[in-house]
Amino acid sequence: MAARLIVENAAIATVDGADTEFPSGHVVVEGSRITAVGAGPAPDYGDETPTHRIYGAGCLLTPGLINTHHHFYQWLTRGQAQNAILFDWLVALYPVWARIDEASVYAAARASIAALLLSGCTTAADHHYVHPRNGGDVLGSTIRAADELGIRLHAARGSMDLGTSAGGLPPDYAVETIDEILEAGAQAVDHHHDPAPDAMVRVALAPCSPFSVTADLLRESATQARSLGVRLHTHGSETVEEEQYCVEQKGVRPTDYLDSLGWLGDDVWMAHRVHMNASDIARFAASRTGVAHCPSSNARLGAGIAPVPELLAAGVPVGLGVDGAASNETGQLGPELRAALLFARARRGPGVLTARQALRLGTMGGAHVLGRADELGSIEVGKLADLALWRIDGAAHSSIFDPVAALVHGALPPLELLLINGRPVVSHGHLETADIDAIAADARVQSQRLLEG
Ligand SMILES: [Zn+2]
Repeated sequence: MAARLIVENAAIATVDGADTEFPSGHVVVEGSRITAVGAGPAPDYGDETPTHRIYGAGCLLTPGLINTHHHFYQWLTRGQAQNAILFDWLVALYPVWARIDEASVYAAARASIAALLLSGCTTAADHHYVHPRNGGDVLGSTIRAADELGIRLHAARGSMDLGTSAGGLPPDYAVETIDEILEAGAQAVDHHHDPAPDAMVRVALAPCSPFSVTADLLRESATQARSLGVRLHTHGSETVEEEQYCVEQKGVRPTDYLDSLGWLGDDVWMAHRVHMNASDIARFAASRTGVAHCPSSNARLGAGIAPVPELLAAGVPVGLGVDGAASNETGQLGPELRAALLFARARRGPGVLTARQALRLGTMGGAHVLGRADELGSIEVGKLADLALWRIDGAAHSSIFDPVAALVHGALPPLELLLINGRPVVSHGHLETADIDAIAADARVQSQRLLEG
């Protein structure tokens, strides 16, 4: 019989359809699933099931945060090209990234995942689009790191096939052929994709961006993903330069271009979507195409601020993303709640995004974007037990009377407990599944090795 875990006496923000909250409530977990949630203490089960009780007074329990866009490998190239726009930043970093291999990606993935876990993240999408010829199985390195640290992973097998000589941005030596990419995508799905409802690893197909892949690759990847039953991911409408590139090279704006190649649909999610007009937003809403909003990365690269209130008003699924740590050096998801709220208000005024809407972006919104709204994103009976218990009775938060405001407006609170699939991965602020000092040392060694070439 599976052990029972009970969290009691905590404030609870369920992020269910009615935004139900309990000032002091309980959640019961059996195995990997939530079996009870409500006000006051847990029911008295009166049976022999071994039970672990966690006293949650002074804490806020929320669904685990969901990261919808990342590039784990970039952990090793943080702090580079600090004042550049996206295109110049990419051109500076492509030659370094072209040297990654299994060992460096493994170290980077472990460090990236640790930062996510320690900031409340329980599910992460990683978009890996650099596959050097002599680099080995870098996607496998990422999946191994996720399995070891215990995070739920959506591994987006990324790709680039449009080198500089063909009018693209990446150097020719950093791209693959379409045949290589399609074969690798099929293998990744075959080896790693788990369609089961409680899957810890799912695979998506993810050509990198309109300026680094061909129209043929976009079209064929969409066909392949739909035949294999997996989701599609890419970057889109991130910068004004990308829009200019599309207009000059393809004769249309990015949304029109991607739409013409089969890239709008409820099985697609795109990172950024900063530069959208009313027609773009309406088409995303009608097709239920998801958006990964990455506020800190967009600010770091001076790309602009995505029209999140307009997207939400139209009914577009929107989640939050850290983006790669080379354009968001914290690598933490928790602070993106606050960044999303502040940037929306900086752009449009204080009423346009509430703390509860920001929390919803980071939880249920992300679950919709990754196609897992039935399993993840809220605290409801039957859902998977991915939960974050935040300590909000310390000096940083004790005078913020609203627990959700303490989490979103305040400093990122310490994590009392992070559960993934019912398993404690962080306890009392400490990572339970790996040695954080060893992760830091390995990341340092691999970063130096990579930068020195
Ligand atoms: Zn990205």
